[in-house]
Amino acid sequence: MRISEVHIYHHDLPVKNGPYTMSHGPVWSLETTLVRLVTDQGVEGWGEVCPIGPLYAPVQASGVRALLNDIGAGLVGVDLTVNAVSAAIDAQVEGGTYARSAIDIAVHDALGRSLGVSVATLLGGAYQTRLPSYYATGIGTPEDIAKLALDKVNEGYPRIQIKAGGRDVAEDIATLRKVYETVGHRARILVDPNRGMSGNDALRLSRECQDIPFVLEQPCNTIEEIARIRPLMNHPIHIDESMVDLNTVLRLVGDGLVDGFGMKISRLGGLRPASTFRDIAAVRRLAHSCEDSWGGDIVNAACVHMGATVRPHMLEGVWLAQPYIDGHYDPNGGVRIEGGHITLPEGPGLGVTPDPNVFGVPAASFGG
Ligand SMILES: [Mg+2]
Repeated sequence: MRISEVHIYHHDLPVKNGPYTMSHGPVWSLETTLVRLVTDQGVEGWGEVCPIGPLYAPVQASGVRALLNDIGAGLVGVDLTVNAVSAAIDAQVEGGTYARSAIDIAVHDALGRSLGVSVATLLGGAYQTRLPSYYATGIGTPEDIAKLALDKVNEGYPRIQIKAGGRDVAEDIATLRKVYETVGHRARILVDPNRGMSGNDALRLSRECQDIPFVLEQPCNTIEEIARIRPLMNHPIHIDESMVDLNTVLRLVGDGLVDGFGMKISRLGGLRPASTFRDIAAVRRLAHSCEDSWGGDIVNAACVHMGATVRPHMLEGVWLAQPYIDGHYDPNGGVRIEGGHITLPEGPGLGVTPDPNVFGVPAASFGG
């Protein structure tokens, strides 16, 4: 079975009750990009990629679109297998993991649909069908964040991520302390400065909150800064933004520089490399989340299928942008968080079938 058509769609995702605020600033609306593959047997597959604004990582939605426009034509006529499609992209460009991710997700969706199995089955099989999620609060005052955290714990979230960084660390310390006073041990707490904290501030946070059990995710901009402070910390450190490819994962794991990961599918290049990461992390018993930077039902379904194949005791949670997005692509229901948990979509492929009318006419089409 070969790919006969490739369609690219652009779509805006306004942040519900926005903005969503991280250490480098607020985001009000995200530009997502969707890929629809059609095969010569009429099977379709959907992929999606959505960088969370231009400042989160050195990748922008406009760049993703440009790259997909460059490589789309080269996918027409290629066998619908992960390896054949990867080779077809390798023959055209170096890198481009975010664009590759949307294509890789679409290939898995189409393959699953053609074989009558779920994407989770293609990735090794689901360990569980109801997965824990976690809630990311954004940056705010101690009182506001503690109230939000309590609301989310009462909804059933087992893990709360407090955004931090980009301000006086005393405010982050006060916020963490207020959240811990409010929710106690009812949820696991993670603090995420998104690279926006100095090493010295991260050390102060850890030292002044020795009594609070929390994980610190990607406090500083570079692996070198994190490697310097980690032996001096009282708390585990997870790497997110610095985990830019599998070579970096091998270094972080092999050199023992990390206690866990925030794993984003598109940063690694799709479900195939994400499953390789999953297996490397499992060898050293390093827990990790399973998520992507942002996105609608397609990204969310991909995250849940991937997360279902992570051994449950290794899974820190599946984060979705769904609580920040109005509506769904699939008119019969998409992926949603209920009671702080997510049910694995049923049906072949991703188990989500978007209504193409949601996205309007394709921005680019190849083949057909
Ligand atoms: Mg993070």
